[in-house]
Amino acid sequence: MRRDVKPARPHVGHGWTAFVLAVGLWGMGVPVPRPPVAGTDRWTQRTWVVMGTYLTVRVRHPDSAYAERILDGVIDLVQDLDRRLTLYDPSSELWALNRQAGGPPLPVSEPLWDLLERALAYSRETQGAFDVTIGPIVQTWGFLEGPRRVPSDEAIARARARVGYTKVELDPSRRTVRLTTPGMVLDFGGIAKGYALDRAVELLQQAGLRDALLNFGGEIYAMGTPDGGDRPWTLAVRHPRRPDRVWREFPVRDMAVSTSGDYERFFFQGGRRYSHILSPWTGRPVETDVVSVTVVAPSATEADALSTALFVMGPERAQALVGADRCRYVLWIRQQGRHLIEDPRSVWPPRPCPSQGSRPSRTPKSNDPSPDIRPQ
Ligand code: AMP
Ligand code: MG
Repeated sequence: MRRDVKPARPHVGHGWTAFVLAVGLWGMGVPVPRPPVAGTDRWTQRTWVVMGTYLTVRVRHPDSAYAERILDGVIDLVQDLDRRLTLYDPSSELWALNRQAGGPPLPVSEPLWDLLERALAYSRETQGAFDVTIGPIVQTWGFLEGPRRVPSDEAIARARARVGYTKVELDPSRRTVRLTTPGMVLDFGGIAKGYALDRAVELLQQAGLRDALLNFGGEIYAMGTPDGGDRPWTLAVRHPRRPDRVWREFPVRDMAVSTSGDYERFFFQGGRRYSHILSPWTGRPVETDVVSVTVVAPSATEADALSTALFVMGPERAQALVGADRCRYVLWIRQQGRHLIEDPRSVWPPRPCPSQGSRPSRTPKSNDPSPDIRPQ
C-alpha cells in the first residue's frame, strides 16, 4: 500500500532480534526463544516487503517443507490484498473505486467489500474517529505522496468536505459500493495490515498450525505459544522515543497487538511536530499529549483500527470503548513535560480472554448504537 517503508519499524529480517526492535519479543529476560527441539519444535521464518513495510511470519511445524508451502500461501494472500488496496497503482481495485467517486455504484471484490464493511463498523463505533474516507485529508497534508507541509485553511476545508464515512453507500445484495461525493478517497492505511494479519492467521489455522508469530510492520499477532506448551509469548511495547529500548513487557496468546503513535510518520514545521494520524473532525493532525497507544485485542483488524481511533479520541473519550470485559486492552503513553508517563486510564496488562477461541474474532458489523464520544 505504502511505498515509503516505515522508518520507525526497521530492521526486520535479522532473525529473532528483529522482533525485539519492532515491538519486542523477550523470553525469560533473554531476547531469543528456546532452541528448536528435534522434529517437533522446528520453526520456519520468512520476511517480505509488502504494503510498504516488512512482514515477518514465523511458524512452528515439524515439516519445514510443508511450513514453507504455507508461508508461500501467506505471502500470496497478502500481496493480493496489497494489489487491490494500494493507492499507488492506477490499476488497483481501490483506485478504480476512488475514481468512481460521485458516480454510480461499483461492484467490488469480496476482500474489499469485507474490509470496507469492517472499517465502516469501526467508524460507527468510534463515531467517526476512525474514518476510512480520510484520504483527501491525508493527501492535503502530503502524507500520501508528499511533500509534507501544513496546508492552507481553505485546502483543509475543501478536503474535509470530501470526508465522511456516512458518504459511503453499500448495497449488500449486489455487493456494490457508491462513494456519494466527487473527490472522495478511501484510505485503508489505518486498518489494512491488521486485516491482512487476520486473514493470514486464518490460513495458518486452516493449515493446522497452532503456534506462530506474525509481525507486520509492528502489528503483531501472537498465535499459540513459543514452544507449544503453556507459556504465552512475551512481547514488549517499544519505548516511543528510544526505539532501541523496551517500555514494558507483557504476555500474550492468540491475540493481536497494534500501536499507533506520533513518531511513525511525521514532519516538523515551525518547530511543531505534525503526525500522520489525522482528526476527521478538524482535518488536522491530532493535537494531543498522547505519544503512543497500544491496543491488544482478539483480532488484528480490531487492534489496528482501534489503535488509530483511540489516538484520535484520547484516553478520556476512549474509555467507553475498552475494557477487560470486552477483551480490549490499552496502554496509553503520554508526554508530561520532559517525561513520558503511562496514563492511569490504561487497561493493562492484557489478560487471556476465556471466551476467545484461537480464531481471530470477526468484527461486529451491526448498526448498534455506540456510546456518545463525539468531539467536544
Ligand atoms: P496506524 O499507523 O494504523 O495508526 O494508521 C495510520 C494511517 O491511517 C495513516 O497513515 C493514514 O493513512 C490513516 N489514517 C490517518 N488518520 C486516520 C483516521 N482518523 N481514521 C482512519 N485512518 C486514518
Ligand atoms: Mg491502525
